[in-house]
Amino acid sequence: MSAPDESASSEGVGAGPGFTPREVTVHRHPDQLAKVTRALRATGRKVVLVPTMGALHEGHLELVRAARRVPNSVTVVSIFVNPLQFGPDEDFDSYPRSFDSDVEALGREGVELVFSPGRDELYGSDPQITVDAGEPGRDLEGASRPGHFSGVLTVVAKLLNIVGPNLALFGEKDYQQLVLLRRMVRELNIPTDVQGIPIVRESDGLALSSRNRYLDQRRRSAALVLSAALAAGAHAGSRGAEAVLAAAREVLAAEPEVKLDYLELRDPELGPPPETGEARLLVAAEVGGTRLLDNALVELSAAEAE
Ligand code: AMP
Repeated sequence: MSAPDESASSEGVGAGPGFTPREVTVHRHPDQLAKVTRALRATGRKVVLVPTMGALHEGHLELVRAARRVPNSVTVVSIFVNPLQFGPDEDFDSYPRSFDSDVEALGREGVELVFSPGRDELYGSDPQITVDAGEPGRDLEGASRPGHFSGVLTVVAKLLNIVGPNLALFGEKDYQQLVLLRRMVRELNIPTDVQGIPIVRESDGLALSSRNRYLDQRRRSAALVLSAALAAGAHAGSRGAEAVLAAAREVLAAEPEVKLDYLELRDPELGPPPETGEARLLVAAEVGGTRLLDNALVELSAAEAE
């Protein structure tokens, strides 16, 4: 293996009985990480990638745990706040960053490889080429955040090319992102399997997000209507699509602090909703200037005639 860029021992962090400390190696240079993962693949190990923007929470750690369960594999977690996916008026500069505690948390999960490039190491000095997310990238989130998904697809394509993973894991929390990434690997013939992991929530239903730390207590409790609306919508699934949307809308309307961007019912690939069967209910809203997303699976039955 090549000399690591930097090594951080997780020894002593959260060490309890039976805990085996591990070394986390942090790579900053794409070429060095690529060399390491190539060598690991040559020995027959599977490489599993978990891309993140850091500020890690239990949602990220569930992805890591799923990665670690893959037999005969090594997990690579990338930490990179990707400027390309933030709009000019968005929170790139203030996005939460907690690198040291992120690496400690990954060490406790038994992760050995972290890829955390600087902007120049990843993009070079004059990047010109990007992945266009096409029409589906201008839908839903993409309608409110022009260029966002091209930024996401570009950085993930780069990460997949550098790391060469057999499998890459993403959260269903960012459902449209997951659908677009599956489509990207299919359409661009990238030999990585993309899989989604269910949303991790607080006990009161709030979907975990790095941006939740922007919410004060009042806004955090207002934000609970998002998951409550999805639950109400899912509960109405047996009464058909219109009833689902009406039930969710009613819950959202009761909270003036929540500025709704969209509430949409779609099929699992984000096309128009089916009459019956599996559908996705997706919501995006601003709460006190913080953009929050959530979604849920809905089982639709044909609406009964009144
Ligand atoms: P981010 O750091 O926000 O780019 O997220 C990195 C990965 O973690 C993405 O695949 C997200 O969808 C996933 N993720 C974020 N929050 C959650 C959550 N609450 N449950 C499951 N996955 C999540």
